[in-house]
Amino acid sequence: MRLVVDLNRCQGYAQCAFLAPDVFAMHGDESLLYNPEADPAQREDVMRAVAACPVQAILLEITDEDMANMVAPDAVAGAGSPSGGAR
Ligand code: SF4
Repeated sequence: MRLVVDLNRCQGYAQCAFLAPDVFAMHGDESLLYNPEADPAQREDVMRAVAACPVQAILLEITDEDMANMVAPDAVAGAGSPSGGAR
């Protein structure tokens, strides 16, 4: 998961720093610091931050590996079985 904040768009509202404090931090009143290579364990917090940013300044790139990790383990386990696979 890679993320970029469009700092020309960012208005320093700090919603992201509140929702994902391990990834985003305010430095002073308006300057935002962030980890562009956020740990996958922070994915849910980052998604909340993306959704909460009032100016949609946070751009998130989801890799194939991220997509694989998003698939629920029971969906993978049930794929192809008579009781849990696709219809
Ligand atoms: S929520 Fe959006 S506008 Fe506010 S600091 Fe974060 S990126 Fe900037």
